[in-house]
Amino acid sequence: MSMLDLAGHKIHDENRQGEAVAPFGGDPNKYHKRFYIESYGCQMNFSDSEIVASILNGEGFGATRNYEEADLVLINTCSIREKAEQTVRKRLTEFKKLKQNKPGLLVGVLGCMAERLKSKFLEEEQLVDIVVGPDAYRSLPALVEEAETGQKSVNVLLSRDETYADISPVRLDSNGVTAFVSIMRGCNNMCSFCVVPFTRGRERSRDTVSIVKECQDLFNKGYKEVTLLGQNVDSYYFVDEANDEIITFAKLLEKVALISPLLRVRFSTSHPKDITDDVLHTIAKYENICKYIHLPVQSGSTRVLQLMNRTYTKEWYLAKVERIREIIPDCGISSDVIAGFCTEAEEDHLETLHVMQYCKYDMSYMFIYSERPGTLAQRRYSDDIPEEIKKRRLIEIVGLQNRLSFESNQKDIGKTFKVLIEGDSKKSAGDWMGRNTQNKVVVFPKGNSNFKKGDYVMVKVMDSTQATLLGKPDE
Ligand code: SAM
Ligand code: SF4
Repeated sequence: MSMLDLAGHKIHDENRQGEAVAPFGGDPNKYHKRFYIESYGCQMNFSDSEIVASILNGEGFGATRNYEEADLVLINTCSIREKAEQTVRKRLTEFKKLKQNKPGLLVGVLGCMAERLKSKFLEEEQLVDIVVGPDAYRSLPALVEEAETGQKSVNVLLSRDETYADISPVRLDSNGVTAFVSIMRGCNNMCSFCVVPFTRGRERSRDTVSIVKECQDLFNKGYKEVTLLGQNVDSYYFVDEANDEIITFAKLLEKVALISPLLRVRFSTSHPKDITDDVLHTIAKYENICKYIHLPVQSGSTRVLQLMNRTYTKEWYLAKVERIREIIPDCGISSDVIAGFCTEAEEDHLETLHVMQYCKYDMSYMFIYSERPGTLAQRRYSDDIPEEIKKRRLIEIVGLQNRLSFESNQKDIGKTFKVLIEGDSKKSAGDWMGRNTQNKVVVFPKGNSNFKKGDYVMVKVMDSTQATLLGKPDE
């Protein structure tokens, strides 16, 4: 059990770790081979797996959720913290055993661990046959062919322009209501703790026309919500030469919002230094752009923020939150927080708690600092906070967030929200589960009403827990 489970806090991303996925509904195509894919890490990785599925479908490979019937087993990996890497390594060892009973089975590693561990996985430990980095998925069919002849095949080259713009992702394990759409790849920020700029390369924005088209196609197929994905969405920048137009993130949001008032638009992640008033006014202007911003603070101490290379101070961050509340008064705000970064003193930790309290986050993803090879922090600073202190600080952070989430939910009792139904409640098939614009989970009884998945319903909140609003349709 992880520290976070111990502290009673659920991180919804963690629930999806290692998820095996296959297309939703009956796939009418006939395939001569099967692939199995498991994904770890951030939403971007899950989204990449859908691009990989599309590329493999084109080569006659169909997806399966049962690795025992697969000809090709793929793991889409994450490097963000050491624990993520350990989980993937353990899984690869299990698949190696599977190979012994099934000669001809190919195992491949995709994603963020590819570059750093390619020679270890391929030659030293002989764990896998194929290694493919996040910018090289188009070469996967050729690499599979090469591996079928018994060679080890690898392509971990990073690109300055690959965005997979023309590839229409196969929606894996979709609820048919909400979908993720990648709008950019890589990251140019150099947060000193973070391995992403090294594993995913330079930032590049995807062609606006292809993004809007993908969102329009999703809407035509019945989807009601898209989440625009990037490591730093506010620095989206695309020059549409054909129409002589510069498209910023604010403009992109507007274009997607204009597809239909019935299509909700979300986005993640915003960097506090880059989110502009223009973006905030666009969110305020369109009812279907959700009133929710994930604005990771990482630390509340200006001194630590400087070491993290986040390029803002505590005061600057708080002023940004004020600005959001001014322009979008009912906006939900969530954060990422790291406990125990290099040199973090008790007073720095207290500043983090203070910022959390001040911002009254609705939700946070909370982590213990994990030193990553090759990052600026690993090269420049010593990972000098003892594990017990890191854990204790994390428990305090999680405890405070639990209280803030509970208080935030309690304040919603008596209010009525427009809720988009995503499906059955996990706990009871007699209840619907959906979200309000602030991204809060709302559960309400199905009763005798004729609502279905994908409907918008006005729901009055009657009660709440720390993680969920409990309501009834407001008729
Ligand atoms: N680009 C996004 C951003 O800047 O917020 C998300 C990046 S990362 C996939 C998600 C979160 O993981 C970060 O916001 C940070 O809190 C956490 N993280 C990244 N590197 C970490 C490390 N070395 N140790 C602990 N947490 C880390
Ligand atoms: Fe990592 Fe910072 Fe880029 Fe986010 S913005 S991916 S934390 S370097």
